[in-house]
Amino acid sequence: MRESRDAKRARARKIIRALKKAYPDAKIALDFGNPLELLVATILSAQCTDERVNMVTPALFKKYATARAYARAEAATLEEEVRSTGFYRAKTRSIIAMAKALLDEHGGEVPRSRAALVALPGVGLKTANVILGNAFGEQAIAVDTHVFRVSQRLGLARSDDPDEIHDQLADVLPEKEWTLTTHLVQAHGRRCCLARKPLCPACPVPTLCPWPGKTKIR
Ligand code: SF4
Repeated sequence: MRESRDAKRARARKIIRALKKAYPDAKIALDFGNPLELLVATILSAQCTDERVNMVTPALFKKYATARAYARAEAATLEEEVRSTGFYRAKTRSIIAMAKALLDEHGGEVPRSRAALVALPGVGLKTANVILGNAFGEQAIAVDTHVFRVSQRLGLARSDDPDEIHDQLADVLPEKEWTLTTHLVQAHGRRCCLARKPLCPACPVPTLCPWPGKTKIR
């Protein structure tokens, strides 16, 4: 039988409660000190672990403290500096183009609106929501690889398109906890609901998960 919207919302609230207990330390894994740093770190985190990004960014943030500094960066130099995060040419292009747009259109500051953020080169809905939720303290769901996978296993959303997953989650998750829920689901995806072989026997929400592929043995 198809789960009603109200039933799904009630189940989502139970899942959030259990995940809060299981991952009380859940928070963003990228290191940053201001919105520009988080924007650069998030661009670098595409197809790369947050741990690797955190190894690269201290030197980067020291050298490039403003949008103007990134806009003036030598592409070849910046490429070498971010090389270990992978896709370094595309990421360098995105960072320099994004910084130029910040200078041209926003006085060198990171804008606080979703529409202005997604209009920046290299910035999609996920990145915009990471910035809004973590640098500006707003409520935003960031659909990364963990949220994409785990929310579907939990039966809270279903689509091949991360933006549709976002909209479906926004419909069932309580808005006042969108940012925290993103961190909780990411923590669950990293530590338990792993991509290849989830640790279902150790899962804090097994009875709330309808996924038919649950693993049985620890
Ligand atoms: S029961 Fe398994 S598949 Fe479902 S959320 Fe838990 S770890 Fe993931």
